[in-house]
Amino acid sequence: MTDQSDDPEVPIICEECGTETTVALSELETQLERHNDNRHDGEKHATVDPTLKSQLQDLVAEDLGLFE
Ligand SMILES: [Zn+2]
Repeated sequence: MTDQSDDPEVPIICEECGTETTVALSELETQLERHNDNRHDGEKHATVDPTLKSQLQDLVAEDLGLFE
């Protein structure tokens, strides 16, 4: 049994490393920070898949009423 109903997975990509991976939304910030800290001295190379990012921002904005 899996229990990730409220924790969708999000693709993150790092063009600098040429890697693409998928993390749980709740781990997103942590994973991005960890990758960039470990691999790139804190520079923000790894990021959410840009096409998904805009969708995500729309969803989050609607959900939380951000960006008003
Ligand atoms: Zn990287």
